[in-house]
Amino acid sequence: MTEAESSMTDRDSETDLLFLPEDTGTPVHLLPPWKVLVVDDDPEVHEATVFGLRDVLILGRPLQLLHAHSGAAALALLEHERDVAVVLLDVVMETVTAGLDIVSTIRDDMALLDARIILRTGQPGYAPDERTVAQYDINDYRTKSELTRSKLFIALFTAIRAYDQLCRAAEQQRFLRETLNISSSLIDKSGLSDYAAALIEELQKPFETELSGFVALVDEKESALGSARLMVAGEGFTAHKGKTLAEFADAELMARLRRCALARSIVVEPDSVTVWVALDAGRGLMMHARARDPLVPAQMQLLQVLHQHLDLSASKVFLTERLHGLAYYDTLVGLPNRSALLEAIKTRHSGPDGSGWVVGVIDIDRFGEINDMFGHAQGDLLLMAVSQRLPRCLGPHCLVARIGADVFGLFCAADALELDALQALCSEPFDLDGKRVHITVSIGLDQTRDTDTGGEVLLKNASLALKRAKAQGCGQLAWYSPELEAQTREHMRLLQAFTDAPKLGQLYLAYQPQWALATGEITGFEALMRWRTADGSHVPPDAFIPVAESSGLILETGRWALLTALQAVGKIRRAGLRDFRMAVNISVTQFQAPGFVQMVREALGSCAVEPGALELEITESVAMTGAEQVLGCLHELKAMGVAVAIDDFGTGYSSLSYLDRMPADRLKIDRSFISGLGSGARSAQIAEMVVPIGHRVGMKVLAEGVETLEQARILAALGCDEGQGYLLARPMPLSELLEWLPLYQPLEGLR
Ligand code: C2E
Ligand code: MG
Ligand code: MG
Repeated sequence: MTEAESSMTDRDSETDLLFLPEDTGTPVHLLPPWKVLVVDDDPEVHEATVFGLRDVLILGRPLQLLHAHSGAAALALLEHERDVAVVLLDVVMETVTAGLDIVSTIRDDMALLDARIILRTGQPGYAPDERTVAQYDINDYRTKSELTRSKLFIALFTAIRAYDQLCRAAEQQRFLRETLNISSSLIDKSGLSDYAAALIEELQKPFETELSGFVALVDEKESALGSARLMVAGEGFTAHKGKTLAEFADAELMARLRRCALARSIVVEPDSVTVWVALDAGRGLMMHARARDPLVPAQMQLLQVLHQHLDLSASKVFLTERLHGLAYYDTLVGLPNRSALLEAIKTRHSGPDGSGWVVGVIDIDRFGEINDMFGHAQGDLLLMAVSQRLPRCLGPHCLVARIGADVFGLFCAADALELDALQALCSEPFDLDGKRVHITVSIGLDQTRDTDTGGEVLLKNASLALKRAKAQGCGQLAWYSPELEAQTREHMRLLQAFTDAPKLGQLYLAYQPQWALATGEITGFEALMRWRTADGSHVPPDAFIPVAESSGLILETGRWALLTALQAVGKIRRAGLRDFRMAVNISVTQFQAPGFVQMVREALGSCAVEPGALELEITESVAMTGAEQVLGCLHELKAMGVAVAIDDFGTGYSSLSYLDRMPADRLKIDRSFISGLGSGARSAQIAEMVVPIGHRVGMKVLAEGVETLEQARILAALGCDEGQGYLLARPMPLSELLEWLPLYQPLEGLR
């Protein structure tokens, strides 16, 4: 019997005490044994160690002895058993330093840094020097004779406790690392749904066990916990995807969730984790996950630590998502906004078959009027209704955004655009709180194959096309083209020049006489605006009037024209002609501007002209709108005594039936129907038809553009009342007119 064996059979008085199991609160069978590797070339030492350590519990865990009989065998064994807690290592084996030799391999090559090493030797004198002890972290050095059963226990106890602490420290470090990894991985999530999806997955990373469960979004402001809806449903819960908690959670689970939500904390139990992750004051994520294998205390502890980080990362993700929402979404209608549309255009990939992209701008016609008529709340309802219908019409491959008050943008691959569906957008009325409202939209589109064209440019092009569509009336669609851009540029140039025209004194009026076809007598004058630019050339009114109208400048210049024409009335009268009308053209913009009638009244007053001497010419299309406001104005003017003429009659899409309702005094047949008179052309027949119709509704009829005596004769024969045209005179500046008038003789040969 070896020294060691004999000593180990001795029973120390302390032994019983020391061998009492530790109270860890966990059943012994659940805890894995400490692995102790006995390395010795003497079989008896192995036996004695087994004998001496039988039934031993250290820190509540049993021991598992592993045996190696040489240094090489020990290393081979350690290759597989990397969680050996203690190596009881004989120094002298195959060589006198065989034991010491493998220490460096264990520490340096195999990197087993936590395993504790107790050197044992039967021969004193082979002790390692201090440097080796320190370098290789050797726990203890004992002669075998020193290792009695109780001393062996104490040495092992100390070593195992050290090993345990090292392991715990390493585990803590790993947990800390994991915590940081999890936090930073979660904090990087781009949205709350991503975050929720990653939550359970990330939480199980540090564990060997599997967690599966669900995450629900709880909005305390709106609902109780029961109505929180599942955002993520993992294994075991997939059937409940999209349900509310109340719809599937049993009473016990509900109670657990409620407890956790109330405490705003984490409840970790060996079989499950329930976490409240706060997003802001009212909202939070409720996560519940079951563990496949029971969670051990360290894991439970880690989850507690992690919880503190979760609130932080979740609220950051939530905040970012909301900021992103504010930056990229329209809060009223819940559609992406202009920035989001531009972003989407920027990140486009090439079209499916290289067919390019379409960017569109959709504008609700007369939205302002709808707003005024029904109120802003209803206006908002209409915007929301359009916002819902647009994406449905255009399908999932088309991005729809709200890019202005009543303007929507669209972006999609060219072959994904369903034009018919887009144009059918307004075929059904919109329901606003029970009111059915019909609207139209104007649409401008641009298509590009060039992926470099920026979103701003595409939107600008589409907006140009929209303007063109609007100019064609309501409910129209137009495509961008380079010519359109050229026209727009010209329009801008004209607008800029026209803006300065009044103050540069470049505007004046020309007056064209009108005469009674039956007698040749002068009955009136039409005042026509003229613009002579700095170089002396004239810009025709057909070019600058639309520019003035679309910019609103016509309000001011129109007022100027009215005043100037009324001032001319006095001058013409002073020149000798007493009884005549002065006709002034009024554009639709002026007519629809508030206070128009009042402006006319004031102009008459300031020029001391009686209303009966003034005639306002409105085009057929204005008269035709049938809008109550237009009719109201006409009635007011008529009541004042101002005459109204319907200009360019026959060029619009007039239905003759509306003429009945028109409080107008005169119909002016457009000159395009006059030029063909006497030639049997179709256009001439129209002139022939208009005269009796005008008379039937109680209006006088005037023919425009009378250039020949023959035309004048035919018109007179048809019963047409008056004429205007080059036959009698071209439009003249006032000074010229005042010279012309005294020389005028009623036309020879009219009768
Ligand atoms: P309009 O009101 O129909 O004016 C009659 C146009 O016919 C005038 O063109 C006139 O010069 C032209 N005209 C008159 N007799 C003859 C003729 O025998 N043969 C031919 N070929 N043409 C004749 P103008 O002056 O170029 O004006 C064009 C249009 O511009 C006007 O058509 C009117 O709609 C608009 N306009 C002119 N002045 C004003 C204005 O002060 N305010 C507004 N809102 N529009 C104006
Ligand atoms: Mg006119
Ligand atoms: Mg006309």
